Amino acid sequence: MPHAKSQHTKMSKVKIKLIILGQLPVDLDKLKLSNWKSEVFEIVGQIDNYSIVNNADGLSWEFSDENIEEQLPENYDGDFLIAMTHVPLENNYYARRFANNRICMTFYEMADILNINNIPIENLVYRLLYSYTLIYKRHGNRMPSRDEITSFTHDETRGCLFDMNGIKSDVVYSTNNPIICDQCVQKLTAEKVPLNIISEIKEELKSVKKGIYYRLADLIKKYPVWAILLSTISAFIIGTLGSLIATIIWEKLI
Ligand SMILES: [Zn+2]
Repeated sequence: MPHAKSQHTKMSKVKIKLIILGQLPVDLDKLKLSNWKSEVFEIVGQIDNYSIVNNADGLSWEFSDENIEEQLPENYDGDFLIAMTHVPLENNYYARRFANNRICMTFYEMADILNINNIPIENLVYRLLYSYTLIYKRHGNRMPSRDEITSFTHDETRGCLFDMNGIKSDVVYSTNNPIICDQCVQKLTAEKVPLNIISEIKEELKSVKKGIYYRLADLIKKYPVWAILLSTISAFIIGTLGSLIATIIWEKLI
């Protein structure tokens, strides 16, 4: 389909600026983030580091929205900005929206949950890159403010980009093979997000998963009997092959 292909390449990408706010005690692979290939968004420039100058102002050592907003850069290249931090945010949310199309997300508690479940912490960033790209699109190329009444999340956990994750540990379901649930697809199309963007994102989300070792480990956990059978059969085959080769060598020598 050459026609579809040419349309595909013409799709203009949403430009996202990623920054790090403060010290990240977690191991974040910046190169892996910058190199992520997507047809719907691109990460512009380098992932710059900004330092946190203020102290926590909340009662539980969290940073209030006003506090975070003060630390975010006013001007940046790109359509919207995502700041990655490790300090707790207001009301213990893991992401907050700010004026001028800016978002701040935190690895606080989230990184621990992902690490325990062997999910790369970059997957959380990928999930947010996709969900905020769609939020930006459905609001006519802008990020709605925090005060705006929005309805893009659902409280039920479905492994969807738009899971609310009020219970933070549920994030594991949408950071390994996340989906866009049928209800969200319906809402997105009703809000005039192009169908080709939705299907492209659905396709790209298949690559947001655990590393190969942990995928195999999961498979073994799910099918233990099959795993034992398979390893017995392969041990038998390797043994047979070994003695066959030995016999051939022996016969050649004599
Ligand atoms: Zn959904």
